[in-house]
Amino acid sequence: MDSNESTKKWSKVLDLIKSEVSTPNYRTWFSKTHLLNEEENLLTIGVPSRFIQEQLTKKYSGVISSAVEKIYPHKPEVTFKVSISEIETEDENLIELDLVKHSNTPPPQGLNVKYSLENFVVGLSNNLAYAAAQAVIANPGISYNPLFIYGGTGVGKTHLMHGVGQALLKKNPYLKIIYCSSEKFMNDFIESLQTKKMGEFRSRYRSCDLLLIDDIQFISGRDSTQEEFFHTFNDLQSKNSQVILTSDRPPGEIQKLESRLASRFQGGLMVDIQLPDFDTRVAILKARCLERGDNIPEECLTLIAQETETNARELEGKLLQIIQSIKLLGKELNMENIRSYLGKPTLNTSGKIDSRKVLTFINQYFNLKMVDLTGPKRKKELVLPRQLAMFLLYQECNLPYEKIGEMLGGRDHTTIMHGVEKIHEVSQRDREVQRLLIELKSGLTN
Ligand code: ADP
Ligand code: MG
Repeated sequence: MDSNESTKKWSKVLDLIKSEVSTPNYRTWFSKTHLLNEEENLLTIGVPSRFIQEQLTKKYSGVISSAVEKIYPHKPEVTFKVSISEIETEDENLIELDLVKHSNTPPPQGLNVKYSLENFVVGLSNNLAYAAAQAVIANPGISYNPLFIYGGTGVGKTHLMHGVGQALLKKNPYLKIIYCSSEKFMNDFIESLQTKKMGEFRSRYRSCDLLLIDDIQFISGRDSTQEEFFHTFNDLQSKNSQVILTSDRPPGEIQKLESRLASRFQGGLMVDIQLPDFDTRVAILKARCLERGDNIPEECLTLIAQETETNARELEGKLLQIIQSIKLLGKELNMENIRSYLGKPTLNTSGKIDSRKVLTFINQYFNLKMVDLTGPKRKKELVLPRQLAMFLLYQECNLPYEKIGEMLGGRDHTTIMHGVEKIHEVSQRDREVQRLLIELKSGLTN
């Protein structure tokens, strides 16, 4: 079989997997895999990092083999190999060191190897920014210059920016990159004025191929720094050197920003990163646990994601706090201990409410039959009662998702998870749903 055909077959496998896993998970774990080699009984799949290789082997081997079996009926085995584009290596870090060693430029100051694109979880809240980053990597200096990434604190702006830097450095180890905060740019500028080394300052900042300035909003009100930056920017742009900027707000909202600078910033591509949605929060927590080697049941991670509607940084902080506190007490990282850490009723104190009572009660309330709730029909009027049932069984009876899925006619645990989350989210803003929940809960405990 020619390699083109083999590649096509692997992309068919990927299409099947795409329909099985959530979009953020697909993007994070599968989108960068490619077929390296096909033998009679063995497919070798290239993956961009060891981290992804581990995740695929540990968590997705079932999904992968069932998709492979559909496309390759003789059921070949699948093995993964870390491979960065054409260069194959067992160890990503080695390759980086090697490239740096051979290049005549020193390694870029300040780029954090931990912030790579491989461990950047992509979800609804940041997929636009991620796509823009990929476009810049494909055509630096040409498509989108500058790339302006904005969003609240802790949402991954710095991480994404470092990721782009590293990806471009991998493509071209000779690339000259400068990464700094806008304060560092300002301090360098002031110092070069005082020490009369303006020439040196200019040749440094204007000779790079990629300029990454973090938190550009702090340039606000600094007139001479803004002026200098304007010229630096123009010079780089005229040479097709890529500029990437991050900010906590869009250029138009930065106070005391010269309008000519604001319009330059708006002249490229502006993308925002939002607070992570539920799926992305779960994926970030999973990725962190995997990196740290902590084995926490998925259900616990979804509980933490549900209880922590915040940015990635705080989410990680919360996870660490939970892990450390529970470990300090010498306890196991399980659902019960995490629930009680989060101040949720533990399994022992609740379970008072009989799960069958929940279902009967919901049926009475909405005038439905049990088959309506458990059956496959997707009628609109059944969706809310079903999701309320999921929510109450989870919150009030503390049943695990799998068990709730069984009770509701063999539904998948991810369906339950989304149902619970949906009600959780809607109940924050919809008074009608709030009222329903209060009525149902009080009916149940009476
Ligand atoms: P910002 O610059 O927007 O304030 P950072 O880039 O410093 O945020 O991110 C804060 C922390 O959250 C970092 O540890 C970063 O690795 C992590 N983080 C943020 N977004 C993601 C993501 N999408 N995937 C994985 N980790 C993330
Ligand atoms: Mg930052």
